[in-house]
Amino acid sequence: MFYKSTRNSEVKVTSAQAIAQGISKDGGLFVPESIPGISLDELRELGSKNYRERAAFVFGKFLTDFSEAEIAYCVDNAYNTKAFDTDNICELAHLFDGTYMLELWHGPTCAFKDMALQILPYLLTTSTKKLNSDKKVVILVATSGDTGKAALEGFKDVPNTSIMVFYPDDGVSAMQKKQMTTQEGNNVGVCAIKGNFDDAQNGVKKIFTDPEIAADLEKNGMMFSSANSINWGRLAPQIIYYVSSYAQLVADGEIDLGDPINIVVPTGNFGNILAGYYAKHMGVPVNKLICASNSNNVLTDFLKTGVYDRNRDFYATISPSMDILISSNLERLLYMLSGENDAVIREWFGKLASEGKYEVSDDVKAKLFEEFSAGCCSDDETKATIKRIYDKYSYTCDTHTAVAVKVYEDYKAATGDETKTIIASTASPYKFSGSVLSAIGQDTDAEEFELVGKLAEVSGLKVPSSLAALKDKAVRFDKVIAKDDMKDYVYSSLGI
Ligand SMILES: *Cc1c(COP(=O)(O)O)cnc(C)c1O
Repeated sequence: MFYKSTRNSEVKVTSAQAIAQGISKDGGLFVPESIPGISLDELRELGSKNYRERAAFVFGKFLTDFSEAEIAYCVDNAYNTKAFDTDNICELAHLFDGTYMLELWHGPTCAFKDMALQILPYLLTTSTKKLNSDKKVVILVATSGDTGKAALEGFKDVPNTSIMVFYPDDGVSAMQKKQMTTQEGNNVGVCAIKGNFDDAQNGVKKIFTDPEIAADLEKNGMMFSSANSINWGRLAPQIIYYVSSYAQLVADGEIDLGDPINIVVPTGNFGNILAGYYAKHMGVPVNKLICASNSNNVLTDFLKTGVYDRNRDFYATISPSMDILISSNLERLLYMLSGENDAVIREWFGKLASEGKYEVSDDVKAKLFEEFSAGCCSDDETKATIKRIYDKYSYTCDTHTAVAVKVYEDYKAATGDETKTIIASTASPYKFSGSVLSAIGQDTDAEEFELVGKLAEVSGLKVPSSLAALKDKAVRFDKVIAKDDMKDYVYSSLGI
């Protein structure tokens, strides 16, 4: 299996190269040259396996240049009970009849990003070893809140790596900020920028693709890679939990082998839902992929009209990890839907960069409308949904997950589609205690860790030990810089 660039179909690299490099030199994203298949029999067999075995099976299809032993090393080190609070790694909770919450937040930082970022350092260091590179890998991360912490936890003190995280100063929750600014480890840096997530992401992309900066790193025995979902090593691990949940539902007798399911994903950068698309096209029976957005509803409009237009107001919402107007991973989807037409991708994404807007062709539109459904939800509706779910099912969900629940309810009411459905639950409610408590009518005029205690009382959910431990940790990183100063920060952190 080789990987191509979405902006140059001639590029042909192994998965190790794709993961080590992060992004193609032409600015495109790496995609597998074909999507490997999974049969119904294989899905049935996976039902009796544990998460590590399921993961090894899926990786085996995508990372064909890795040996079985290399995959086993990565999987066994990442997906265990040292990092996750359940040996199932993720949990499927029943919400109501035929609707399941896929809880992806049982990892060390309490957000779904752990599912990929606990394993990425192993995939990455294995990749550089395979490529005989002894260069120090420098990871730059732009984060809307959750990726940053998950990447820091994954990479802290990993030999021969260094990680720097940039987050929008006013764009993350109090708990997210505390998680990042108190980060431990000798190879980590955390920096706030004056700007929003898109500014941080653009800044990182610019640094990555600047040949002069690359040459400076090279001189110093270093190379960049990415822990954002532009890296294939982030996306591949996310396919696993969709394959795994389908196998689990069959094993549990919730569905019959071959029955289709819907998948609902609260979406920002389009990574998580794209992983669902890959799972579907491997052969997991999926009916609709339902894309849920908050008030930053650029994807809702796109999936309904085929016009992507980022020229609109940006809202800081109570689901900050989805406050995004440029969804990077859409590029991978459009590359596939356009029949791997790199020229048209260069044209559309060129327009996105210059005019902030592009319109896809009619045949791509037809495919988009057939595969996806989309909806959005305001902060008020998000809060009302948290309360409704809490009152009705005694289930406490976080703000991002609530967006997905609301969009799914709207979808079901509009279509009458009774297909059994998995809703991706992407964060623990404890990461957003204030918003969740205020949604269910509690007073929130208290300091963050009092709120955590209060949420424990009303939800009955155990406080994750990693969050409880933050209370007494000192802030190590309090720098706030202009978005144009990111390069300087990188150079001074690396001492070059
Ligand atoms: C990152 C994140 C999302 C969005 O996921 P994408 O892969 O960027 O679409 C949704 N919810 C939470 C809690 C997140 O951290």
